[in-house]
Amino acid sequence: APQVHAATTYTIGTDVTFPPFVYANSNNKYVGIDMELIRSIAKEEGFKVDIKPLGFNAAVQSLSSGQIDGVIAGMTITDERKQTLDFSTPYYESGIVMAVAPNSKITNLKGLKGKTVAVKTGTQGATYANSIKDKYGFKVVTFDDSDNVYNDVKTGNSVACFDDSAVLNYGVKTGLGLKVVTKPADIGQYGFAVKKGQNQKLLKMFNEGLAKLKKNGKYDQIIKKYTGKAA
Ligand code: GLN
Repeated sequence: APQVHAATTYTIGTDVTFPPFVYANSNNKYVGIDMELIRSIAKEEGFKVDIKPLGFNAAVQSLSSGQIDGVIAGMTITDERKQTLDFSTPYYESGIVMAVAPNSKITNLKGLKGKTVAVKTGTQGATYANSIKDKYGFKVVTFDDSDNVYNDVKTGNSVACFDDSAVLNYGVKTGLGLKVVTKPADIGQYGFAVKKGQNQKLLKMFNEGLAKLKKNGKYDQIIKKYTGKAA
């Protein structure tokens, strides 16, 4: 008799608010480049996804402890993360920039002396800020999600924040209410991740699916839809 195999459902952790990669739309549905990529790849490859918007750091921690199967969250592929995670082929490029309030007179890192800067827990932006804080003489405060990071700058508690250029530049265009004052540093690539040595089938399907989306134009269509620019 023919056998019917039910599609496997993989639990995928993601960030809460990281537009244009992941955010809740007005119907409280998680959308963005990462959400469309993972859903389109799942469709191509014949698996199902259960999306868990856990927050960036919590998603990475849950993946490392094997509670979820994968993470897609605008996550930069780094050598440090590669010790505990396996990454897909890259799907987007970004660096770290500094943003300040629109009326701020701070234009560079030297302007941060004696001030406080906001970053998101466990991110490249946080790593970058911590790596230069002694040199430039500023303090770092951390928040678990990007909204709180940006609000801390808007309310004036922090004079600046460090976050991904792909996200802050998008924010500037869509009315976030901050301005970007530096060129991207520490440029890297975003990748989908699984726990090291685990879920290799899922990782392989992600890579195969991504290659198909690049070939059939769907990848370009998704990037264009959310950024207005060709990939
Ligand atoms: N790309 C950054 C990182 O990997 C930020 C990711 C995020 O905040 N979702 O750390």
